[in-house]
Amino acid sequence: MSNLYDTIIIGAGHNGLVCANYLAKSGRKVLVLEANEGVGGAAITREFAPEYSVSACAHLLHLLNPKIVSDLALNSHGLKMAAKGLTTLSLSTDGEHLTLDRDSVSGKALLQSDKKVYRDFQNKMRRFARILRKTFMTRPPRLVHKNRKDLMTLASLGLSVRLMGRDDMRELLRIGAINIYDVLQEDFQNEHLKAALGFDAVLGSNLGPRSPNSVLSYLYRLSGQVGENDSAVSQPAGGMGSVTEALKKSAEAAGVEIRTGVAVSRILLDVDKVVGVETSTGENLKSAEVVSNADPKTTFFKLVGARNLETGFSRRVDNIRMQGKAAKLHLALDALPEFTGVSSDQLGNRMIIAPSLTYLEQAFDHSKYGEFSNAPALEITIPSVHDQSLVPAGKHVLSAVVQYAPYDLRTGWESQAEVFKQIAIDKIEEYAPGIKDLISASELLTPVDIESEFKIHGGHWHHGEYTLDQFMMLRPVPGAAQYSTPLSGLFLCGAGSHPGGGVMGLAGKNASAEIINGGKN
Ligand SMILES: Cc1cc2nc3c(=O)[nH]c(=O)nc-3n(C[C@H](O)[C@H](O)[C@H](O)COP(=O)(O)OP(=O)(O)OC[C@H]3O[C@@H](n4cnc5c(N)ncnc54)[C@H](O)[C@@H]3O)c2cc1C
Repeated sequence: MSNLYDTIIIGAGHNGLVCANYLAKSGRKVLVLEANEGVGGAAITREFAPEYSVSACAHLLHLLNPKIVSDLALNSHGLKMAAKGLTTLSLSTDGEHLTLDRDSVSGKALLQSDKKVYRDFQNKMRRFARILRKTFMTRPPRLVHKNRKDLMTLASLGLSVRLMGRDDMRELLRIGAINIYDVLQEDFQNEHLKAALGFDAVLGSNLGPRSPNSVLSYLYRLSGQVGENDSAVSQPAGGMGSVTEALKKSAEAAGVEIRTGVAVSRILLDVDKVVGVETSTGENLKSAEVVSNADPKTTFFKLVGARNLETGFSRRVDNIRMQGKAAKLHLALDALPEFTGVSSDQLGNRMIIAPSLTYLEQAFDHSKYGEFSNAPALEITIPSVHDQSLVPAGKHVLSAVVQYAPYDLRTGWESQAEVFKQIAIDKIEEYAPGIKDLISASELLTPVDIESEFKIHGGHWHHGEYTLDQFMMLRPVPGAAQYSTPLSGLFLCGAGSHPGGGVMGLAGKNASAEIINGGKN
């Protein structure tokens, strides 16, 4: 076994690449091993039908941390946006859609009072999202550990909350304890508008609008709109893979070695100390540090092995809730579809199908019992409107997240994936009559497909549900919440760690800071 590397990173998802970048810049010799043939994890562009490419999992960029973009010079490594500041159209079959922008909402059926309530609601939620976002930039503090850095983080967080003022403090506590459905019922009248907001609280999660934690989930999503650059919803040119390709180039420029098509089968231990990894080809590679970009269940159960973990810790990992509920639909289209009431100029925006909170809740209800609903909710984009590099000239591609598709479908997905795909297409047809005739190829990725293609246990968007019991110092579990783990030399850097999923990069950045600091203040 040769000791060639200071650090081996398991997985070249965007967080693994961010982490590798910063570690290499700190002077370490870093090797990244990626099981798949290309880098990017769930942030890739791939061809799903001859000459039709699409962002295969994540398709909209709204969380990527601007400091990472500048530190790693991603723009000079090829990152470009095809479109920025996309608005959301909440579709209606009669063409009376709503248009939601940062501070304003418009739509024929809306009253002035709805518009004011929307503005006030956004302002309030942004104030709260700002506090949440403050916690993202550093390791989550431990509550019982007398560490100066942790105490300062807690003090700064406490001060931010205190500075909100009594009314906001009380309001945050109050709404945090209920759910987005109840919160929206309080002030909003318009059902369609309530649903458009509720949709953002449940997208990518195992939550319905009436579930606890849906307010936290909403704030998490909003946190991307309260940063230095207010990184509103964007579409990278060339698809999401261009983000991870830029990260790869930046990492290689910093001296990182990246090997793709090489899965790690085991993390090698000397008692409770990590000494390297074994690859699926039987190669043993030695390093003092191993950083896992894989999700926590994969890391601890598949790569470390439960027998090498203390029972209590192992049970906590086993209890992490990470059942994916989002499927991904891709359609190759012979022409630009027509959505009722939507002009062709508007088709490049984010479109959602969520007519009412009850519709969303009922779609969720089925998934609780291992079923899917005949009336799913969708987030739809047509990226080829802004970026013809994805398709043959004049053609189009549609990319949609479809909820809810339970990972643990009672009947299994094998015979049902095609059925659910047709349900999703039929639903789109209700809003875009004639679209079916334009489809030349299609694919649906269920959470089971996402698990196998992207190697994410449960096919979960965040590598673990984003809820208060799996949040900050509890993420992914106590004992591994500050990126280090009970095994000396083993660290986590993926979405399962604080601050969570989405193409944000902060789990990777924060993990690198911890490793460089050696867990000191
Ligand atoms: C359907 C869907 C839609 C989404 N849409 C959006 C969106 O629009 N916008 C957004 O911001 N986010 C979205 N997300 C979430 C986002 O894609 C993820 O949270 C994010 O990509 C996770 O990044 P990561 O680097 O932490 O992990 P991953 O991207 O999962 O990367 C982990 C890497 O580790 C590799 N790996 C695992 N095990 C091994 C092993 N044993 N050996 C070697 N390599 C290994 C994997 O192959 C993978 O490349 C979506 C997620 C899903 C599922």
